[in-house]
Amino acid sequence: MTATTLRRATCSVKLYSIESIPKALAAARKIAAFNSQIVVEPLVSDLTPANIQALLGGMQLILDGTDNFETRYLVNDYAVKHSVPWIYAGVVGSYGITMNILPGQTACLACIFPDPPRGTFETCETAGILNSAVNLVASIQATEALKLLVGAEDKLRQTLLSFDVWKNEQAEVAASTPRDGCRVCGKRAFLYLAGEAQPHITMCGRNSVQIHERHRPVDFAEVSDRLKPHGTVRHNDFVLKFWHEPYEMTLFPDGRAIIKGTTDTAVARSLYARYVGS
Ligand SMILES: [Zn+2]
Repeated sequence: MTATTLRRATCSVKLYSIESIPKALAAARKIAAFNSQIVVEPLVSDLTPANIQALLGGMQLILDGTDNFETRYLVNDYAVKHSVPWIYAGVVGSYGITMNILPGQTACLACIFPDPPRGTFETCETAGILNSAVNLVASIQATEALKLLVGAEDKLRQTLLSFDVWKNEQAEVAASTPRDGCRVCGKRAFLYLAGEAQPHITMCGRNSVQIHERHRPVDFAEVSDRLKPHGTVRHNDFVLKFWHEPYEMTLFPDGRAIIKGTTDTAVARSLYARYVGS
């Protein structure tokens, strides 16, 4: 397998199993249960060019647990600009991929993949996801993170590693040096950080569109009363769910919403405007 035939996994490594609370909170509870001495600060927020400095500023290391390429390119821009190491990781089906990115030393994500994938590609929805592939990628990612945090940089892997645990395929592509002319780490053109390349985000092929245009808090009780005549509504402090066939909307307190049942952003935006407000 060569670099050009590498598939790009889009789905995130999972540390949560319940949908009734946001993933960050579910993950934080799980991590806290491993070791009560660990301090975890869950933040339920959509990572955007506007808030990335507030969310990632001062971090020593960034681990990729995202489920879409736009966010990964945004993280890559930020990490390169501020010289923060980050570890790319993704899984789809039985295929996993990971790479350490040390800005100024190794290749960055855009050195290997200059642009996000276009057209059709496998997603968690079409290919499912095999737990053992997730565990393998997460174990490698966590081990590389430990090496970085204890200063054992000479032990870090310097390749883009991919494997398919079902097909018994494995590939490594050299990634120890930046690519000449790379838009991000060479030319330092941070398009995603500038917001110029940040389109709507269609999440992980799950027939869903994320809307994050509204930047003011939502009153769940008020929205819930308004939505009741139009479908089924449930909410707790963290999330509101609204079912209106064939759509399902998940609304967060900051106004962000995930609308399931369409990949058409115009439809999703119209539903959002109709039921939440524009
Ligand atoms: Zn680069």
